[in-house]
Amino acid sequence: MTVPVQPAIEVIDLHRNFGNLRAVDGVSFKINPGTVVGFVGANGAGKTTTMRILATLDYPTRGIIKVGGIDVVQYPAKVRSKIGWMPDSFGTYHHMTVIEYLDFFARALGFEGQERADRIAGVMDFADLNPLSERLIDNLSKGMGQRLCLGRALLHDPEVLILDEPAAGLDPKARVELKHLIRILAEDGKTVLISSHILSELAEMCDSLLFINEGRIIHQGSAESLKRDNSGTTLIQVEVHGDAGKLIEWAQMSPHVKLKESLKKGARIEVDSIDDRLVSEVLNRMIKDGLPVIEFHREERKLEDAFIDILEEIEEKKLSPPPLAAPSSEQVEA
Ligand code: ATP
Repeated sequence: MTVPVQPAIEVIDLHRNFGNLRAVDGVSFKINPGTVVGFVGANGAGKTTTMRILATLDYPTRGIIKVGGIDVVQYPAKVRSKIGWMPDSFGTYHHMTVIEYLDFFARALGFEGQERADRIAGVMDFADLNPLSERLIDNLSKGMGQRLCLGRALLHDPEVLILDEPAAGLDPKARVELKHLIRILAEDGKTVLISSHILSELAEMCDSLLFINEGRIIHQGSAESLKRDNSGTTLIQVEVHGDAGKLIEWAQMSPHVKLKESLKKGARIEVDSIDDRLVSEVLNRMIKDGLPVIEFHREERKLEDAFIDILEEIEEKKLSPPPLAAPSSEQVEA
């Protein structure tokens, strides 16, 4: 008999209203221990609100939220000992050095003597903070600050990490470093919930992605399953000589073709089939219609496209009229 796994994070029908605004509107999901999950959504979708409630910093209007099986509303202190929280902004600790900052939080967590020294040394090593030990926080770069914030979140060796936009504003090198640290934490068996706007970046780091829109979860799945083309369409990137306007106009008018994205020198178009014959017919037509094509190639579906497709599907559903009500039994008998 297999014993069911206790989820590291469990959210059941979470709601959070701010006045009339439903910032989180019935969110449910489970995250198994040791997995890295990306939390994706547009500005204002409800990511930070959900994460803050998970981090015991806010209360739900209603719903059940558990970390390691412990209810965050009923037992916030117990939950805090299990989670590391990295907010999207750093806070104001201008006149402290890196070592003073970590020491301050280690004391606040109740660590004393050798244990405190060991824990600080551990996170300084992990987040490569030793060369910055005596630097004032004021003088850290954004990437250094994020490493310090991550170090602080790890002082009590939490099982679950909740990271709100940790890569925002980082340069490419700092992003790579952060990704590397998150990979190590994942290998170490930590559960990580991480929000970001940069989908491709999340895809590399995460076992699965949670898409949230207007306070509701609209999709949960692995990056691979999202990228796998199950839309029955073929994406083609086309480059033309000179003005791309003609190609864009052509894509908007042509049967079986949809304009996905205008590019500086061309466009990304979607053919509504994966049948090579039809795709080839469309490409032939493009040449016959006199478009000055220089290059075209088939594309793997981007995560951004998958996200936008899901949003479009939702919009279409909203706009389509509700199905006609089935006749009642009285009507049928009559
Ligand atoms: P972003 O990517 O921009 O950080 P988000 O997905 O994290 O967005 P939230 O910060 O959770 O979104 O905000 C969800 C909605 O709730 C937004 O409309 C926001 O303005 C609103 N909101 C968040 N906190 C409060 C608050 N304390 N009072 C009133 N409205 C709030």
